[in-house]
Formats: sequence, C-alpha cells, structure tokens
Amino acid sequence: MSTTLSTPVDGARPFSEFASLPASEIRERTWAAKRRLGNRVVVLGHHYQRESVIEFADARGDSFKLAQLAAASPEAQWIVFCGVHFMAESADILRQPHQAVILPDLRAGCSMADMAAAEDVAEAWDRLTRVHGDTIVPVTYMNSTAALKAFCGEHGGVVCTSSNARAVLEWAWAKRARVFFFPDQHLGRNTATAMGVPLEAMAEWDYRAEDLERQNARCFGEGARLILWRGFCSVHTKFSLQQVREARAANPQVRILVHPECPFDVVQHADLVGSTEFIIDQVRKAPPGTAWAIGTEINLVHRLGLEHPEQAVRSLQKNVCPCATMNRIDPAHLLWALENLTLGHVVNKVAVPEEVKRFARVALDQMLALKGAGAPARAAMARD
Ligand code: SF4
Repeated sequence: MSTTLSTPVDGARPFSEFASLPASEIRERTWAAKRRLGNRVVVLGHHYQRESVIEFADARGDSFKLAQLAAASPEAQWIVFCGVHFMAESADILRQPHQAVILPDLRAGCSMADMAAAEDVAEAWDRLTRVHGDTIVPVTYMNSTAALKAFCGEHGGVVCTSSNARAVLEWAWAKRARVFFFPDQHLGRNTATAMGVPLEAMAEWDYRAEDLERQNARCFGEGARLILWRGFCSVHTKFSLQQVREARAANPQVRILVHPECPFDVVQHADLVGSTEFIIDQVRKAPPGTAWAIGTEINLVHRLGLEHPEQAVRSLQKNVCPCATMNRIDPAHLLWALENLTLGHVVNKVAVPEEVKRFARVALDQMLALKGAGAPARAAMARD
C-alpha cells in the first residue's frame, strides 16, 4: 500500500548537470523555466522552505492549505511541491485527474511521519481493539503517510491538522470512548490538555517496545481515553522550558508564541500556542514594538522577522537548526524539476496508489465535514 515514486525518466536531464551550477545562474534559469511553463505549472511552497526556494512559490501555506490550493488550480497540469513527502502525497490525493504532483527531491521526508510505519500502527490497533473492542477512533495528524490516512478512513477515523485538532478530538470522543492518536504525541497531549482532559487519562504507545503488551500496559487500561503514539517532531522538540525562562528573563515583555508540536512544558508556559498559520497571523496583527520569541521552524521565524521589521522577532532557541528534510528542497533541485518539465519530462512524480487514495480521501473528507474543522487553534490553545 505504499506510495510509488517514479523511477528515472527516459530522456530526462540528470540532476548531476545542475548540482554545481552557480546560484545566480540557477536563479536566472529557474525564472526563465517558470515563464516558459506559464500557468501549466504551479509551484507551492511550505512556510518552512528557505528564501531562495520560496521566492518561486506561486502560493505559500501549511501542508493542508497547499494541498487544497493544488486542487484549486485546475489550469496547472503540474504541481511542483516544495515541501516534504507526506505533503506531496496529500496534494496527490486531492489533485484533479489531469494533474501530476512533483517533489523536487524525493529525499525530502519527515522524521515524524517516518516514526509511524503503517504495519506498526496496524499491529497496535489489533492489540488495542482486542481489549477495547470498538470503543476506539483512530486519528492521524496530517503529518503522516498516505497509508495512515487510508487506515483512518478504513476504520471510521479522521485526519487532523494543528489548526483543527480540538474539533477533531471533540468529534471523535462524541463517537467513541477512546482515541488512538498518531504520530505526534505532543499535538495530541497539548490539545487534549487544553480541552481539560487530565494527563492520567492519556497513555503513550511505545512502538519500539520489545514487549508491546507489557511496556504499553497503561494503553490497555479502562481509564485510557487518549492513546498517543510516541512520535515527535525533531525540530519542535528542540524547544525547552529553560529557553522560555531565559527569554522572559531577558525581556519580561516578550511574547512566547509556539507550535503545538512543542513539548508539554513549553506549551504550558507559552503565551500563545497555535498552528503555523496562527503564528503568522499573530505576528501580522501585533502592534509595532512587540517582542516575540517564537518556537517553530527557523526559516519561518527568519521570514517573519524580515517581513515585520517594526517588531522584534526572534527564535525561542538561539542556535536552532532548520528542518533538515524540508531543506532537501534546494534551488538546484527546483530548477532540475522545472527545466525537465519544459522539455516534457516529469521527474520525481509522487503517485499514491488508487486503493490508498480512496480511503485516505474518506478520512480527509470526514475532517472537512466537521464543524469548525477549518477554524484556527485560537479557541483551543491560545492564552493571553
Ligand atoms: S518540521 Fe518536524 S513535522 Fe515538519 S517536516 Fe520537519 S520533521 Fe516533519
């Protein structure tokens, strides 16, 4: 059921011809290729992309917004997705039949999505339902493989984003007593805590345990209302309570603004918590002179600082690294994908198998059908 990726395309120009080109030439030729392709191509850029890639994006957004934008650009035959693999899969699930989705570098994965292999989730589900029967709803975060979205669609579950996790959990608990949430434990725990669910009602599923039954015993208990897959984002878990304390000590007026993929204690001590779009919105509407310490991917924080010189924007962590996988998409790979399109060669096409697509769409459609599903996380987590 895994996504198939295109193998080398006959006649396509190899990446080796592009790898060592000077930056100025890459930039010039990328603009030229974009002009030649016109509205036959749409370039989508995730907020975490670097500036030298994002400048070519026709639209920017978070993963779900970009997948929707792809489907809403019917004139585009090719969707070049500057993001990571699960995002390109989502765009392929939602795209129109005449479109193809291209990921400029297939190594652009997501370490969090990779922490939840479909077969491991299926095994956990089998063990949990043997004990809990049909009292569980599976919920997957958007940051997961298409196979997991399909798993949720097939088992009465749903997809959530960091914007609508609260609405999704409300829906799931109205339906059944328990939620099995994957792959990001932090989004699940932080959202449920903001809803008033006590930590004692949450249990973690350690997918790496040698003895799955014994080491995950709490997940089989009657009191487990939320079973959290022990996955995490390697970028957002770099933020710590110590950094929050240091930022406040340096400037008592600073506003701590973080993403819900951050650890529990960081979220508990932040002023505002929300999705990528929420973070952008908070900075956009703040008065001049506002000081921010932001806990999310550094390329976005850096861009917010450039776009809002009237405010003092900095990262919560001084020496934070960018998301390594997101940054696999570089100007040379983007040029390689676009110039090949001008020659009629579709390289790095992402194609989700039809049977996976069918059930993944069920879970995505269920998310869209939820009242408040498109609403931002403000009501769920923002605090003043
Ligand atoms: S920032 Fe985290 S969740 Fe997002 S792509 Fe990178 S590793 Fe995955």
